[in-house]
Amino acid sequence: MDFLRPASWEEALAAKAEHPTAVPIAGGTDVMVEINFDHRRPEYLLDLNRIELLREWEVGEENVRLGASVPYTQIMENLRAELPGLALASHTVASPQIRNRGGVGGNLGTASPAGDAHPALLAAGAEVEVESQARGSRFIPIDEFYTGVKRNALQPDELIKTVHIKKADGPQQYSKVGTRNAMVIAVCAFGLALHPETRTVRTGIGSAAPTPIRAKEAENFLNAALEEGGFWESGKIITPSIAKQFADLCSGAANPIDDVRGTAKYRRHAVGIMARRQLGWTWEQYRGAGRTLEGAA
Ligand SMILES: Cc1cc2nc3c(=O)[nH]c(=O)nc-3n(C[C@H](O)[C@H](O)[C@H](O)COP(=O)(O)OP(=O)(O)OC[C@H]3O[C@@H](n4cnc5c(N)ncnc54)[C@H](O)[C@@H]3O)c2cc1C
Repeated sequence: MDFLRPASWEEALAAKAEHPTAVPIAGGTDVMVEINFDHRRPEYLLDLNRIELLREWEVGEENVRLGASVPYTQIMENLRAELPGLALASHTVASPQIRNRGGVGGNLGTASPAGDAHPALLAAGAEVEVESQARGSRFIPIDEFYTGVKRNALQPDELIKTVHIKKADGPQQYSKVGTRNAMVIAVCAFGLALHPETRTVRTGIGSAAPTPIRAKEAENFLNAALEEGGFWESGKIITPSIAKQFADLCSGAANPIDDVRGTAKYRRHAVGIMARRQLGWTWEQYRGAGRTLEGAA
């Protein structure tokens, strides 16, 4: 196995163009497991650790530009206000050691349906910037990034450069069901983001379908119900029947399998529970923020 160590982004793109089968390695928390278990024996490893720009982030007016290799710990410590859903999801990844190494680019590269970043990225609204030497960069909307079980939209000569994520304009939540509190692969996971500026909600479901998905029917239902009922202006409590219908539609969007971690029936049920709870938590936060502003006025 040859080890390629580009010193710059341009060198990395050139190496990937020359060796499209080369396997990029960032934190190595997925790649090294696969190599150690002999699930993968690539001809070339492409080490991205000398490329500074992959470990940088920038907070802009509307978006955060998150370098592909920014470790989860940095997201938790520095981007909690801008990306609360992703920060909460980062907190649930493995252990401090893994969170110091692993990042969102690696999670996207692996594209496991159980990856914790995915529901938060889907709910917040993200675009993945990928680049190749031959064709330059292109932006892939997160909804189009996951193409199958552990498959993504990357071409063999492309690398993930940056993830562009909308800054939170309202409350966000993330939760994960597992057999214990740390070092656990999700049995299923759910992320929710309220976007008061556009009066919309977005969801993300993990580990309950072949790919991470949004519950679009549930979003459409809730968007219409909140609009028709004047909930965004009044901040009034969401009725139990709306919350139940939303939860049922989220549960129905899941398309899980039975496996060692849980049954399909349990996963569907748990997705509904998480959806209802998160709607309650985020809406309370939204109402609370409204009341504080009114009180201050
Ligand atoms: C003990 C343990 C516990 C874990 N627990 C969790 C957990 O709770 N939740 C969770 O989501 N994950 C978990 N993981 C998996 C892993 O930590 C995450 O998927 C992490 O985000 C991977 O990031 P990385 O930088 O280490 O990726 P790497 O292992 O370096 O790479 C992962 C994949 O992405 C590709 N890749 C990396 N960077 C790029 C790039 N810039 N462009 C193109 N392709 C790229 C690699 O080629 C590879 O296919 C765990 C892993 C271990 C070992």
